[in-house]
Amino acid sequence: GATAPHVLEARALHACYGGFTALDGVDLGLPAGRVTAVVGPNGAGKSTLFHCLAGTLRPARGSVRLAGRDITRLPAHARTRLGIARTFQQLAVFPTLTVAENVRVGAEQSRRGDPGAVERTLRLLGLDGPVRARPAAGLPTGTLRRVELARALAAGPRVLLLDEPAAGLDTAEVAALARILKALAADGTALLVVEHDLDLVADLADVVHVMTAGRIVASGPPGHVLDTVGEANRP
Ligand code: ADP
Ligand code: MG
Repeated sequence: GATAPHVLEARALHACYGGFTALDGVDLGLPAGRVTAVVGPNGAGKSTLFHCLAGTLRPARGSVRLAGRDITRLPAHARTRLGIARTFQQLAVFPTLTVAENVRVGAEQSRRGDPGAVERTLRLLGLDGPVRARPAAGLPTGTLRRVELARALAAGPRVLLLDEPAAGLDTAEVAALARILKALAADGTALLVVEHDLDLVADLADVVHVMTAGRIVASGPPGHVLDTVGEANRP
């Protein structure tokens, strides 16, 4: 609900590329156990916000806090160790490693070093069959997206950041993805989904924030917010 504490909290974020202002004072909180979505037209600043949370872009102004700790100046790898996992809009798996090895790389980034994490995550994502021993190179996009998600999850993150997780997936794969993400949220993870697919957002998100020109212009439950977005958010 509205009083749930925010695991990850951004305040008054400003970000620039040269003289261009891509984020113009964004406040965003991610509560534990909830799926938060950010939608908006191309160029709105969604990926820029994502990078500021993940640590791959330093904001010009503003702060990012993880469980109350100021992490604004921490680089991405340090944030990963503290429990912020992410996926990439352009798939980022190691092509010569097998599926299971890719997931093991993710587990090794964990501060907890849970030995069961790899097997549990492979099972959760349906990657525990013969595909586990296949090199990532050459696997279909839908499978690679699951490998990438598994890599992120094997670290046992408190916060999971997803940029366009449904890109390149068919309807059945999107439905399977939605089930997995809901299960993660039910487990207490704070999820952020930056997504073009408004049907997925409507199905998945507890709260939706609409971005336009570097600002959040509307926030609320999907049923209240998404009909104001309409076709403007379609790619
Ligand atoms: P979205 O993810 O919502 O499509 P982005 O955050 O990628 O939006 O981009 C926001 C704005 O910043 C756009 O106008 C985009 O052209 C610009 N932008 C994004 N990345 C860069 C960059 N590396 N250099 C210059 N401008 C950029
Ligand atoms: Mg983007």
